[in-house]
Amino acid sequence: MIVIPEKNYMHEMGIAEQLVKIALDAIPEDIENPRVEILNLRIGKLASVVEHSLSFCLEIVTKDTPLENVKLVIEEVPVKIRCLACNKEWEVDTPMFKCPDCEDTEVTMLSGREIEITSMELADEEQAEG
Ligand SMILES: [Zn+2]
Repeated sequence: MIVIPEKNYMHEMGIAEQLVKIALDAIPEDIENPRVEILNLRIGKLASVVEHSLSFCLEIVTKDTPLENVKLVIEEVPVKIRCLACNKEWEVDTPMFKCPDCEDTEVTMLSGREIEITSMELADEEQAEG
């Protein structure tokens, strides 16, 4: 018996549903029986997405859709910060935001929270023409 700890997967499940909706909308209408093979994603380090949870949730929500068995290719986006005082930009691994130059804490986050589909690859149509 498989028990899904629902609470732990809530976040990724919502994301998976969103991603599938976007991907389905992006499939050109003139393709018959489309099948998406690869989904290229960009996920920010601070988006708090657990990769194996996301692929697990995607497996569930893509069932019986053109995205069934889709392969995920995830590019991790570093967290980029800009100091509002001196405009220095840098990357961080942890959310400790203090300018290394002027030590100002008035900073803005440039990237690190995104969850987006950069592209997807459709399988070749199986039916031969003619
Ligand atoms: Zn600064």
